[in-house]
Amino acid sequence: MATGNVEIKSQVKLSPEEEEQKLRDAFYPKPKCPDCGGEKFLPGPRGGLSMNIKCANPACGSEFNVCSLTRTVERI
Ligand SMILES: [Zn+2]
Repeated sequence: MATGNVEIKSQVKLSPEEEEQKLRDAFYPKPKCPDCGGEKFLPGPRGGLSMNIKCANPACGSEFNVCSLTRTVERI
């Protein structure tokens, strides 16, 4: 029995590209919070083509920066 090195990867760490894709899938075509599944967001300050939004679920409150032109979504 030489194989004592089995790693249990219960928490898969997403690469930045996978994370970006996951966020994009969550927000397009219909905005949905990737953390709690909520569909309501509070608009924050906007600058240019991007906009800060915050999940309206008080228990969640995740904040994102969404760019409507490039369809990129970032956690802030
Ligand atoms: Zn949320």
